[in-house]
Amino acid sequence: MKPTYEVVGKIERFDERDTVFAREALIAGSEEERLYHEQNPHLREIDERIRKFIDEKLATDRASWGRAYYQVGFRTLAYLALPDCVDGEPAPDAIKIDPKRASLLVKGLASHLGADVVGITRLKQEWVYSHRGTRPFFADQPPNPPLFEGMPDHYTGRLWGDPIHLEHQYAIALAFTQDLRFMKAGPGVASDLEVGKVYARSALVACQLASFIRALGFAARAHHVRNYYVLVVPIAVDAGLGELSRAGYLLNKTYGLNLRLSCVTTDLPLKVDEPIDIGVQEFCSKCLKCARNCPAGAIPTGDKTIVRGIRKWRVDAERCLLYWGRVGAACQICQVVCPWSKPPTYFHRAVANIASKFGGLTKFLVKADDLFYGTKYKQVSEPLWMHPDGEGGKSQSDSCFSGSLRASRH
Ligand code: SF4
Ligand code: SF4
Repeated sequence: MKPTYEVVGKIERFDERDTVFAREALIAGSEEERLYHEQNPHLREIDERIRKFIDEKLATDRASWGRAYYQVGFRTLAYLALPDCVDGEPAPDAIKIDPKRASLLVKGLASHLGADVVGITRLKQEWVYSHRGTRPFFADQPPNPPLFEGMPDHYTGRLWGDPIHLEHQYAIALAFTQDLRFMKAGPGVASDLEVGKVYARSALVACQLASFIRALGFAARAHHVRNYYVLVVPIAVDAGLGELSRAGYLLNKTYGLNLRLSCVTTDLPLKVDEPIDIGVQEFCSKCLKCARNCPAGAIPTGDKTIVRGIRKWRVDAERCLLYWGRVGAACQICQVVCPWSKPPTYFHRAVANIASKFGGLTKFLVKADDLFYGTKYKQVSEPLWMHPDGEGGKSQSDSCFSGSLRASRH
């Protein structure tokens, strides 16, 4: 089966320097920043606006609840971005294993380690970034085991603007669910805590799985929020985890948009999964609930457009990030309001089955969702335990998000 995204031309590899997260991270006045905006003068103003928001957030290192909760996931996660954590040399004398057996093994281990959904596909070069754009960058740090085992020989894209080469044959897509009680309390410290926690888990599992495969004697690299060489959403679509949605996220039949993604690319021969069609393209064309609720107007209400050779709904990443800056936390409203983002109870699974089979019922199902859950997003209180005075509140916006809660969406 073919994936449900529509290829209408040559898919150009995406330059990571063009992501809004790479642009906001450029240091004002640096050589990189000057070079980038000389080549892209139309982005100078919007990038300055985004950077200003983020600089203001980072201007202080004073103690705060927001900073403390943000650090829980994102601080530790940064260490998992080290080159010898995501990558390394495979052990000599690779073991012999049948691809079908290897797939079962890899999926079983990933689930055991904490992945909620796992799928396997052939890696298409179209989904590999062309150049490195986001931090962290690494030059030639000397090994200092066991803290740092050394730079893998084949590690490319060490510095901003370096070309990325990744010739692995297979990609293992990993998806991790978020606790909806925390997500519904956002945007604020509760949702930042949850997103950071899940990103940390997604990074750890990807690094563990890649390390396991290398120990069997095959090349393997983890890709996670702090160190990606690939676009994780189309890889997850190819691997049969779901479809690309109007909101730009992967839409999974069981968990809706409520997922964060990571990935392992490898040369371990594997049996691949098929992409799936669960009716998302038709559902999203009639639903629009995420677009109606997006406070930034970043999700299109109209038709798909062509983006780098693919016809899809194009989310305005700049508008989205400016909104995050305004509220001081990563927004997650579209993920939460989507009618598919529900706890995987027997009832909701049955409704998802109906939605995926009967496109003609979309409007009725969206109306029913509005009736049960409301047409407008309603933020709930943070859990009481999150504040020592026992007064849970809404949207504590002293979160020190750095604009890097990125890329479960492309
Ligand atoms: S994260 Fe928030 S601002 Fe961004 S697209 Fe979704 S609803 Fe809109
Ligand atoms: S809210 Fe509706 S339109 Fe948006 S991603 Fe979910 S199903 Fe698609």
